[in-house]
Amino acid sequence: MLTNNIHSALPHMTLHENMPLAPLCTLGVGGEAEIFAAPSSIEDMHILFSAVMKEGVPVYVLGGGSNVLFPDGLIRGVVISTQNLNSIEWRTPITADIDAGFKLSGIMKALRERGLGGFEFAAGIPGTLGGAIAGNAGTGGHGVCECAEYVCTIEPDGTIRNWNENEIAYSYRKCSLSDGKRIIVSARMTFRTAQPKDKDVLESYLLRRGTQPHGLRNAGCTFKNPEGNSAGKLLDECGCKGLRVGDAVVSDLHANFILNMGHATSSDILELIRQCYQRVYDSTGIKLEPEIKILGPCPCI
Ligand SMILES: Cc1cc2nc3c(=O)[nH]c(=O)nc-3n(C[C@H](O)[C@H](O)[C@H](O)COP(=O)(O)OP(=O)(O)OC[C@H]3O[C@@H](n4cnc5c(N)ncnc54)[C@H](O)[C@@H]3O)c2cc1C
Repeated sequence: MLTNNIHSALPHMTLHENMPLAPLCTLGVGGEAEIFAAPSSIEDMHILFSAVMKEGVPVYVLGGGSNVLFPDGLIRGVVISTQNLNSIEWRTPITADIDAGFKLSGIMKALRERGLGGFEFAAGIPGTLGGAIAGNAGTGGHGVCECAEYVCTIEPDGTIRNWNENEIAYSYRKCSLSDGKRIIVSARMTFRTAQPKDKDVLESYLLRRGTQPHGLRNAGCTFKNPEGNSAGKLLDECGCKGLRVGDAVVSDLHANFILNMGHATSSDILELIRQCYQRVYDSTGIKLEPEIKILGPCPCI
């Protein structure tokens, strides 16, 4: 029924039923989306989202999949991917309108080519601009939202809205536009002319990456740093490194990274998250908050 309604609104759009999501996220786990669609224009995204909202079925927006944990089994509703929204248009020498599905690595490359800077903190962060704005991704006290002049969203009532920088509240790994109800479709991003010190700053961010696991499936930091503390340090002190459930393992290099060593399931990872959370809570009383976006019941209370 839903596919029929979407088809009549968007006859040219391919809808995938029972689409496996594991290949679409960096952890490589999770079940199938009942319906999956990846519109190739903001107009199509708008029509699709409006049709789906009218039906009242669950919707989940997927960017690069580098910060999500999908449950095993069938995921009811529609997973909408931004993977085909990936254009960048320069408006001024330092300002560009960038689609939500454009990769952060692509932005870094474009800035290098144009002799621009001010985005070094995003070096090495996988995923898309939309996902990065939704979670205010960043490092070293900086986040992607600080470069956004305005953000364009499709609202749950079907309207398209531009939020200017004064209307967007953001802090560490948080953005007011990310309440799971709207889709970020593009943003106007402002950078600055590169400065000689940028190279060293970039180098220092890339050096930090050396303390994180390479070449193994993961979704970045499992937990957010609690105020004034480091989640990785707390997890390490509580003996979490090397903890294992099935093929899900806490990295020996950095305790805040959970790795899929081959055939981990989402349930394995959720159980490992629960065990890590519990260990830290039992020995420190601190309730860690997951940084990974868990679709479905969260094991941390
Ligand atoms: C090796 C590795 C290193 C990492 N290092 C860092 C780091 O240093 N700093 C950091 O902050 N993160 C880091 N991450 C986590 C992740 O890369 C970032 O959070 C990234 O910004 C997520 O973007 P994404 O496109 O992959 O989003 P996804 O994983 O696809 O989605 C993440 C969340 O954003 C929502 N979302 C995605 N796109 C949209 C949209 N267009 N509109 C509305 N909601 C949307 C999703 O529904 C979901 O809730 C790392 C991950 C990995 C695997």
